Amino acid sequence: MIEKIYEKALAGELICLTDACALVDADMEELALYAGKLRDRFTGASVKTCAIVNARSGHCSEDCIFCAQSAHYGTQAPVFPFIDISGIERAAKRVKELGVERFSIVSSGLSPTPEEFQKIKQAVALVSAMGLQADVSVGCLSYERLVELKNVGLASYHHNLETSRSFFPNVCTTHSYDEDVNAIKEALRAGIEVCCGGIFGIGESWEDRYELAVLLRVLGVQSVPINFLNPVAGTPKEGTEVLAEEEAMRIISLYRFILPDRVLRICGGRNAVFKTDGARKTFSAGASGVMVGDYLTVKGTDISEDMEFIKGKHG
Ligand code: SF4
Repeated sequence: MIEKIYEKALAGELICLTDACALVDADMEELALYAGKLRDRFTGASVKTCAIVNARSGHCSEDCIFCAQSAHYGTQAPVFPFIDISGIERAAKRVKELGVERFSIVSSGLSPTPEEFQKIKQAVALVSAMGLQADVSVGCLSYERLVELKNVGLASYHHNLETSRSFFPNVCTTHSYDEDVNAIKEALRAGIEVCCGGIFGIGESWEDRYELAVLLRVLGVQSVPINFLNPVAGTPKEGTEVLAEEEAMRIISLYRFILPDRVLRICGGRNAVFKTDGARKTFSAGASGVMVGDYLTVKGTDISEDMEFIKGKHG
């Protein structure tokens, strides 16, 4: 059964919802085996790496139910305005020394102010000149702003859709799904690579997971971050049980079948779901990239521990 679905994915065919449901119920070992084959065939067996700097934290106008940075909830997450360029430079130098490929400047909020945008532009130019792939995750940007960043060295634009269109009204009520979709389309129109994915374990169904993956495929994003809920005290998701390791691995494998040629990056929530050996387990399920170092408001794995596994994969 899996072999037949594998053949379809290998041929570039979009698998249907019935096939996706069959994968969800399949033997985990076999599923991971075929997902790994697809990854090796389409994106190679090496692990792509990226790291971030939290350049502006908290006070976000949006009400995403999982987010520690929303001003709608009383969380303990740090709140600070856009940091100095020197802080971004220090963080970028450290990840460069460790051999990480990409470095993203991340800020909270739906869209940067003109002053913040000037700092983002400076930071992109600086990071790019250091020989790192310079990325941003700074909310929705207009086409003109995207082109400005591209012209100073932006390598990719990150903006998550978070979940399916059907489930989105349960996740965020302060902006529309189309605003996010349009931001992705504008970046692609500007000729910029896009990194766009979602968060899992927030109450969405397998149908929602399938729907999001299909949309990402249709939009043509090149990289797909996979985040798992790490419930934050003070948010509506406080106390929610984290996903079991096997369910998280099934999500990764399913996404590999639907998005065989994209970079699937395991980002936030990895340590909440996988208490040990998260990089190896997610890679064995079909992932092809991992965010290393600290997350936005949560400490990550020791960066050198991840790099050891990753270097091993590079042979
Ligand atoms: S996910 Fe982004 S937009 Fe939503 S509340 Fe958090 S920082 Fe704001």
